[in-house]
Amino acid sequence: MTTQKRVLILGGTGNGWKLAALATKIPGLEVINSLAGRTREPLIKSTHTRIGSFGGVPGLTEYLLAQKIDLLIDATHPFAVQISWNAAIATSELNIPHLMLISPAWKKTEGDRWVEVENNQTVIEILPKLAQRVFLSIGRQELASYAHLQNLWFLMRTIDPPPLNTPVPPGKLLTRRGPFSLLEERSLLEKYNIEAIVSKNSGGDATYPKIIAARELGIPVVMIQRPPLPDRKQVTDVESAVSWLRSYSN
Ligand code: NAP
Repeated sequence: MTTQKRVLILGGTGNGWKLAALATKIPGLEVINSLAGRTREPLIKSTHTRIGSFGGVPGLTEYLLAQKIDLLIDATHPFAVQISWNAAIATSELNIPHLMLISPAWKKTEGDRWVEVENNQTVIEILPKLAQRVFLSIGRQELASYAHLQNLWFLMRTIDPPPLNTPVPPGKLLTRRGPFSLLEERSLLEKYNIEAIVSKNSGGDATYPKIIAARELGIPVVMIQRPPLPDRKQVTDVESAVSWLRSYSN
């Protein structure tokens, strides 16, 4: 008889959902997918989902113990560094096998006009010299950092609107949920006469069409580089994460 194992997937990403769906089919494995609760109406798929913060390393440690979690996969976005560090610390303390699922970063290719920068602060410094009309494609949480750039015009696209009373930069806010096709991205850039894009180097296919559209239209992309992540076992695709799970569930 096989013993049931419990895996916690830290998600909030397309890969997190794909992995959760495949992991649920592995015999002897019980899957919990964890979301931070940032999106008002998350697209809950069929797996067991919990929503909300844990309360730092102590809260996560307590949760892992209380829920008798045997394995943890961190499938969060590469810019979600706090939860990744928390997970690395908590699993080390409890000796729980830990895997990170991270799409490889996008690489600059022929025709790309990228300006690679470390963080939003550098973007803010260089942006006024680069363009007047900017597609600010960084999600909702960091829009406020750009609010003082009153001489620029921003196209912003987020799943939910920013919270009331949060300062946002001047421009147009579109609330839409991706993925978006290359055709959609190209026509968006053309419709709003976009002169530069600001993007995180998220990697993966889901948000890459805007980068292709920028290449085709000769538009510069200010590409924010990934912050440092814990140095742990990593895989870059969902199938490899499934194999890792299978190796523990037999
Ligand atoms: P973060 O800065 O690393 O997380 C901040 C805090 O939110 C964490 O310390 C943790 O709170 C809680 N948290 C984050 N992810 C969680 C999860 N999957 N389950 C439970 N609690 C979680 O992360 P973030 O950048 O705010 O991103 C939040 C979520 O959005 C992540 O799940 C990420 O995958 C997703 N996401 C982020 C981005 C991005 O650009 N950052 C883009 C797409 C999707 P406690 O310490 O209190 O436990």
